[in-house]
Amino acid sequence: MENSAPNPRVHGIHHVSVIAGDPQENLDFYTRIMGMRLVKKTVNQDAPGTYHLFYADAEGSPGTDLTFFPIPDLPRHQPGPGQIVEVPFAVPLGSIPYWQERLDEHNVPFDEVETRFGEQTLPFEDPHGLRLALVETDDERDFVPWEHGLVPARHQLRGMHSVRLWETQLEPTETVLTDVLGFDKIGDEDGWHRFGVGGGGSGKIAEVRVVAEVRGSGGSGGVHHAAWRMRDSEEEMELRNVIARVGLQPSAQIDRFWFKSVYFREPGGALFELATDGPGFTADEELEHLGDSLVLPPWLEGKREKIEASLISLETPSPPVQEGPEL
Ligand code: ZN
Repeated sequence: MENSAPNPRVHGIHHVSVIAGDPQENLDFYTRIMGMRLVKKTVNQDAPGTYHLFYADAEGSPGTDLTFFPIPDLPRHQPGPGQIVEVPFAVPLGSIPYWQERLDEHNVPFDEVETRFGEQTLPFEDPHGLRLALVETDDERDFVPWEHGLVPARHQLRGMHSVRLWETQLEPTETVLTDVLGFDKIGDEDGWHRFGVGGGGSGKIAEVRVVAEVRGSGGSGGVHHAAWRMRDSEEEMELRNVIARVGLQPSAQIDRFWFKSVYFREPGGALFELATDGPGFTADEELEHLGDSLVLPPWLEGKREKIEASLISLETPSPPVQEGPEL
């Protein structure tokens, strides 16, 4: 009898991509208030008149990267089933009081601290309607502090802690998370079902809540997709085969230059992506200059002048602002 190799599984959250409003407001919020590094300033490869902005830790480590397609004057999204409705970030234990003070100073409203699955959680919203939360954890993370960041390293965001989805039915989404992507059910609390992969620590969590069948809509603050980590292209193609075999119609593998991607919709309707850990954001820029200038994939370089003319000019936070990091 032949040994059948176990199915490949994902290794946690790779990145999350979101629709935003005004690009300058988006940039200011995530760099100046949240203290993240702009690690890539590029365009939406499928609509090059729109920016694609990537915020992450100092090196764009997989799992730290929240990306945005900012479209000025876009109406706000309405959360609904089949959507990722919140993107919680990990912060070190004891960081929430720092963040409450910081958000307060910048006039960002926040909710009461909640305990979720035993973790202290501070929920709030970004200026364009994306639900965020900061979750205190001491789980190990792939994280490199951003020394020019405006938040002291000891309080910087460690990357996405989990993704939270609304669905009208648990079972179809649960089956894909467990049987296809390799998650295990690890908890139930207040209507939220928690799934973890690879032990389910910070960055390896998906949470699903069943809600009534109301109609959501896309728009600013709406999550476009969540991407899951794959070690390499070969592993990604193996998992793509599994996804195809269960009838989820994955896309072809697409070369996003900084990683290779495969897209598919989970049965509830949310868009998922598989993304390889490498080659990463230094594929086309020096580490110290990540995000400094508009980067285009090679196949769009020929249209640079036209693309640049169609984009709103952005004031990027470089050189780093005076506030001075206390490390
Ligand atoms: Zn993506």
